Amino acid sequence: MRKTLKQIAKWLNCEQQLVEEVVVTGISINTRTLQAGDLFIPFRGEKTNGHRYVTQAFENGAVASFWLKDEPNPPAGLPLLFVDDAEEALQQMASAYRQEHSATFIGITGSNGKTSTKDLVAGVLSPYYKVQKTEGNFNNDLGLPLTILSLDEDTDFAILEMGMSGFGEIEFLTKLAKPHFTAITNIGEAHMQDLGSRAGIAKAKFEIVLGLQPGGKLFYDGDEPLLIPLVTEQKDLKAISFGLNGSADITATNITTTENGSSFTVEGLLNEDFFISVLGSHQVKNTLVAILIAREVGLSAEQIREALKEVSLTNMRMQLVNGAQDILFINDAYNAAPTSMKAALQFLQTTEMRSDKWVVLGDMLELGELEQQYHEEIAEVIDGKSIHKVCLFGPRMKWLYDKLENNLPADHLLWTAEDYETIIQHLRTNAGPNSIVLLKGSRGMELENILNAFKE
Ligand code: ATP
Ligand code: MG
Repeated sequence: MRKTLKQIAKWLNCEQQLVEEVVVTGISINTRTLQAGDLFIPFRGEKTNGHRYVTQAFENGAVASFWLKDEPNPPAGLPLLFVDDAEEALQQMASAYRQEHSATFIGITGSNGKTSTKDLVAGVLSPYYKVQKTEGNFNNDLGLPLTILSLDEDTDFAILEMGMSGFGEIEFLTKLAKPHFTAITNIGEAHMQDLGSRAGIAKAKFEIVLGLQPGGKLFYDGDEPLLIPLVTEQKDLKAISFGLNGSADITATNITTTENGSSFTVEGLLNEDFFISVLGSHQVKNTLVAILIAREVGLSAEQIREALKEVSLTNMRMQLVNGAQDILFINDAYNAAPTSMKAALQFLQTTEMRSDKWVVLGDMLELGELEQQYHEEIAEVIDGKSIHKVCLFGPRMKWLYDKLENNLPADHLLWTAEDYETIIQHLRTNAGPNSIVLLKGSRGMELENILNAFKE
């Protein structure tokens, strides 16, 4: 961003000290990553008080800082903006900056696939436009305003990930971002505790349409029956469904995968073949959002095809890694929930990349009261004929172990509550050049520790 401090003070309509003609080129909430020209925002929590770092922020190059009105002893001689609530003021600034910005805004939500879809949309647009996107997982009421405020003035597309754990959160984010295009990647089971049911989750995600620009569009998972009534109820909503089943407006068929990626045919609103260097039919499905948006903004099928060939995803999403002993790993260990675990297993079982198929599955966390059932249900999608070794890691995976025990030969199944080394040793002894190993578990399970033992 590039705004004068005077302009920002006007947006916030707040008391000020020594606000002069100075240009603010960024926002920072952390003195360690602060850059010259930033406006510093001190947050006050139970353990820390950011006001202690305000002087440091100026030493590091800040040109101004917020100061909470009820915080004593504001330093004299420094440009300060006095605000009631740092987070609200940040959001207010982001909202004002958003209003003035001419980019096309894209909001992406869903239980799984937000980051992947964001990367795919950015990948397809970036050869032709200036594109900026949410960094990492900055997808909440703090991360989203910071992302908006980090946009350059000449950015053509802003792609924003929107996450939530309860009702009203997506509504807040989408009303701040006022997107031209929105997408709901899928409905899973995460945050069931707060939202009551999958229908509740669908409703909470669907809040994304509340911030749509007039004439804006929603792209939604057409394979999810819970979304369809929500769409039909909104008579004026322009909505297009995508999916892997024939009923969606646009579908992907003939998906075939090699070590290099996936090729597929798109049918419906356009009929073309594409290739992405990304694995898994769920990622092909996410790619449909990128294709739809590219088409909306006027890119030709050829332009889309060329761009998709070059796309890559953020690490640890269905990422192929060559390990020691010539073992091929699929690192999908960034996170896990039932839907994404089933999608990854589905991929492994159908791939012809290698014949000796292993899975290392870690606990799925934050699933609420039904967690046992969700772990047990994974057994239904494990076909003992196509998967040869199932290694389970974590206390919750014992539930799955108990389910599988009668279906799989004893030497095909291994469970350990917390010892990475047992699984590593098992791989060292039994896996080799024919083996492909899927690593999938919640973030807290850190399954990359197993992969690290095979880093060359
Ligand atoms: P988070 O809520 O942690 O930010 P996210 O929604 O951003 O997650 P990603 O990081 O893109 O999602 O992917 C998380 C996991 O879900 C990965 O393992 C990925 O392979 C899988 N995944 C991605 N898209 C889908 C999809 N459409 N359906 C099922 N699983 C998916
Ligand atoms: Mg994400």
